[in-house]
Amino acid sequence: MAPNTSSVPSEVLYEKDDINATPTDTLLQSYTEKQNQGTVVWFRVFRLAYIHISGLYGLYLVFTSALLATINFAFLLHLAGTLGVMSGAHRLWSHQSFKANIPLRVILMLFFSLSCQSSAFSWARNHRIHHKYSETNADPHNAKRGFFFSHCGWVMVHVHPEFKEKAKQIGISDLLADPLVMFQHRYYLWLLPIVVVIPLLLPMYWWGESLSNSWHVVIMLRLTATFNCTFLINSVAHIWGNRPYDKFINPSQNLGVAIAALGEGWHNYHHVFPWDYKAAELGNYSTNITTMFIDFFAWIGWAYDLKTTSPQLIEARVKRTGDGSHDVWGWNDKDLSQEDKLKATIINEKKFG
Ligand SMILES: [Zn+2]
Ligand SMILES: [Zn+2]
Repeated sequence: MAPNTSSVPSEVLYEKDDINATPTDTLLQSYTEKQNQGTVVWFRVFRLAYIHISGLYGLYLVFTSALLATINFAFLLHLAGTLGVMSGAHRLWSHQSFKANIPLRVILMLFFSLSCQSSAFSWARNHRIHHKYSETNADPHNAKRGFFFSHCGWVMVHVHPEFKEKAKQIGISDLLADPLVMFQHRYYLWLLPIVVVIPLLLPMYWWGESLSNSWHVVIMLRLTATFNCTFLINSVAHIWGNRPYDKFINPSQNLGVAIAALGEGWHNYHHVFPWDYKAAELGNYSTNITTMFIDFFAWIGWAYDLKTTSPQLIEARVKRTGDGSHDVWGWNDKDLSQEDKLKATIINEKKFG
């Protein structure tokens, strides 16, 4: 397939030589010119280390001096940021697993921006490469390079040359055609202070929190939590868990990750059926809050064209490549108990004829 980046405006590919670089990096350093793939980028190491150390101090403040309103506010922002990553950058912009009207897209972009995980454009492009070339050198967080690399080590090194090659070929025309995605990408540097400064100042002026508590709890502890909940999907859910849909791939079903990452731990299913808006076979809200979030907006009509997978397709795949750990794949599974069958609800049942 011919590369589709020929029509890409040059300014949107300013980090084309180094996919981990955010626009902030590009401004602060000009290392994209003299990069050396695979080597450590110390600026990013210090940045991530600072966020984690400062976040741990924030955790201490949670138990010592932070106001309850501040803690609740930080938790709400963590939820919003994580939902922005999972339902916006992931299920909407990376996979097009549903469509959203303009107000919902704006909400998702604001939420995603709170997570400070670069632009949705870069995030979605990287993620598409992750899916298409999982566990190869082109995969930005190749889990075959170990837990630490796939968790957060990949953020701290220059990318592999194979990744750069694939980045030139991956389909991104839909992202380029999305004005909101491109706006956030172009003005990420300007938006970043806004999504940091407003949450920082709000607790101080609204309920009298100290600057230190607000910085360490609302910004740093919250970002540490949001970052790691996202990182877990690339590390833990690519190493540990069952593989009921495809035993030949690394991604696995991991309940712990599903809870922490608001429904993104059903990763064996997700890599087999990446277009499914639930990123899981079942829409069980307790372990898939992102699905509940999307379903709510579908209910009020803001999300539509939700794509899912037919039971027949799932069944065929489970039988063909599953590791045998799939409990029940559907209605006619021989292991489906008579009790469950009697309790199941059939909507719009055809009575006659
Ligand atoms: Zn995905
Ligand atoms: Zn994955």
